[in-house]
Amino acid sequence: MKKSKLNREWHLSHRMPARATFEQRLEWHLEHAKSCRCRAITGKIAEEMKKRGMSMPDS
Ligand SMILES: [Zn+2]
Repeated sequence: MKKSKLNREWHLSHRMPARATFEQRLEWHLEHAKSCRCRAITGKIAEEMKKRGMSMPDS
């Protein structure tokens, strides 16, 4: 059986709001990275995490 990188259950229970603010997206990605590896944190989200000294999960 192939192991999927996508944590389907997590995604079903953590939907990104349609008009998510930057803060909401930041939080979403933070939670996401803990539970799922389907996509890496990039761009502004990654920059902001660095600025705040948040640890970046390996992508
Ligand atoms: Zn995911």
